[in-house]
Amino acid sequence: MSDFCASLWPEESTPEEQINCSDCGLDKHGSRMVWGEGNPEASLMILLDNPGAREDRDNKPFVCGTRQTLQKAVGEVGLTAGDLYITYILKRKPTRSYEKEHTRQICMNHLNQQLLAKQPKLIVCLGNVAVQSFFHNPEADVKSLRGKFHHVHGYKTTAAYHPLAVRRRPNLWRLFLEDWMLVAKEYLTSKKPYIKE
Ligand code: SF4
Repeated sequence: MSDFCASLWPEESTPEEQINCSDCGLDKHGSRMVWGEGNPEASLMILLDNPGAREDRDNKPFVCGTRQTLQKAVGEVGLTAGDLYITYILKRKPTRSYEKEHTRQICMNHLNQQLLAKQPKLIVCLGNVAVQSFFHNPEADVKSLRGKFHHVHGYKTTAAYHPLAVRRRPNLWRLFLEDWMLVAKEYLTSKKPYIKE
């Protein structure tokens, strides 16, 4: 799609009481918090490991590679920013080494609150970090879980490769698109239950 043009989807503000969160220590890494993007009311939730920067070094709006590839795929299957809410296992991007398991467990308290509040009808985990964290299974991987729906903590869930993996390995693009077709079919053919009253 040569005329594809990615854009920065609207950012959901961080809740007032979490703006200064330092629960896991990633606040010392210097990257800013991103709570969520897209449509906070959407019932289709995308779960990524952590947010890429939304601004470049000059603080100008910036669409990172993850967002570009994700938007291209969802656009090709007929979904828009209004259909999707994106959030993260970690709300800040780590910039140096950290205690991965411990940190993810702490920040997922926020995700659990989001899930309770938003009650998504379908969750798409992108990449092994999101899959392993959300499924609570360090052995889980996208390769064995993609292409089907699973019930995880009461939520209908599926998995697909991380957009950055797809950028690095172009042979994954076809599988990535297949997975988004599955999601779009599920979402669009039974859209009514996905629209909140
Ligand atoms: S990554 Fe999560 S737990 Fe850690 S400081 Fe940010 S919001 Fe708090």
